[in-house]
Amino acid sequence: MHLNDKSVKAFKEAVNVMPGGVNSPVRAFKSVNTDPIFMESGKGAILKDIDGNEYIDYVLSWGPLILGHSHPDVVKAIQAQAEKGSSFGAPTELETELAQLVIDRVPSVEMVRFVSSGTEATMAALRLARGYTGRDIILKFEGSYHGHGDSLLIKAGSGVATLGLPDSPGVPADIAKNTMTVAYNDLEAVQVVFEKYGQNIAGVIVEPVAGNMGVVPPKPGFLEGLRKVTEENGAILIFDEVMTGFRVDYNCAQGYFGIDPDLTCLGKVVGGGLPVGAFAGKRELMEKIAPAGPVYQAGTLSGNPLAMTAGIETLSRLTPENYEYFKKLGDQLEAGFREAATKYNIPHTVNRAGSMIGFFLTNEDVTDFASAKTSDLELFAEYFKLMAEEGVYLPPSQFEGLFLSTAHTEEHIAKTVDAFHNVFAKLARK
Ligand code: PMP
Repeated sequence: MHLNDKSVKAFKEAVNVMPGGVNSPVRAFKSVNTDPIFMESGKGAILKDIDGNEYIDYVLSWGPLILGHSHPDVVKAIQAQAEKGSSFGAPTELETELAQLVIDRVPSVEMVRFVSSGTEATMAALRLARGYTGRDIILKFEGSYHGHGDSLLIKAGSGVATLGLPDSPGVPADIAKNTMTVAYNDLEAVQVVFEKYGQNIAGVIVEPVAGNMGVVPPKPGFLEGLRKVTEENGAILIFDEVMTGFRVDYNCAQGYFGIDPDLTCLGKVVGGGLPVGAFAGKRELMEKIAPAGPVYQAGTLSGNPLAMTAGIETLSRLTPENYEYFKKLGDQLEAGFREAATKYNIPHTVNRAGSMIGFFLTNEDVTDFASAKTSDLELFAEYFKLMAEEGVYLPPSQFEGLFLSTAHTEEHIAKTVDAFHNVFAKLARK
């Protein structure tokens, strides 16, 4: 039996002092119907919980840790910076260095503004798109997540091309009505919205590979179609690469697919495990941001030296070969998952994009949120818990992808595949 007494106790204490016991909802493990595991430390691909259990980690802090946990060079650089000071509220050369790394690596980007989270990056990108175009409407895709800003916590109204509805109490209907939502990969629906509202649409925000409904790659022509329709209508195309950035490919998803968005949102890997986000893009647009231009955006800890250091150390250690390695490991993991699931007659579909991997417990093709939701969520909860008992830490939700790091090895993959077999054998008997 899996020992988790300390985690159970820690959670009881946490729920008394923090809503739901956590500082971000998915960490509470609600969708897998169990108490969360409290972590103590991480090294390379391995996470250790407070009861002393070890796990091969496929969450990697929800994506940032592409070099694995506490990479020695990253740790050393953060320590050295901490000795010099943790925050100045004044410019440092570190910001320019990381901005240059981003510009060199992300094809569409000419200028960068750093923030402290992905949410801030997308909120600011929307303000810039609206400020630049003088229009209010934003188009997003159902099942995509772009952080918790008011304009982006929106669900679809009934039918295509209707006003958006708040997805949470506290989001004013007056704000929600300016966000339209259509199904991911549905270019026709996008065109319908543009026919009706084209002159009022400030921008389209899209995850170039969706990662918040599990992993859903764009259909051929989808991103190209978005580029074309936005250009024709004078709207801004925003790629939310908070998850895909430096993960799907060395040059991000836009480099991989060869699409040139106007604005790009970054987060996760760009901060190497410290709180960093960025919005970035064409000079003409970015120079509208204060103090260069009139669109306001600011942050006390934006461009924080510790965070910039972690980002610089992480990005500068990544090479195109790392992405070949992720592909090789991903191929092995996918093959092992498919073989185990097939052997025990477990419904399954696999979607992948670089080191983002989506294992769905459904036999349907998954191309949008509706098809992702055909997954067996009860089965997923059992699978998640049994995999944890086998020492494999998966994202605690069917609608999140697995990530790989440079610290994962073929041995880790082989152990994980053994765990798939053990777990699916148990689930098949039920
Ligand atoms: N955009 C995307 C695509 C994301 O995946 C996330 C977080 N998972 C965000 C934005 C929000 O980032 P943060 O949690 O850093 O605010």
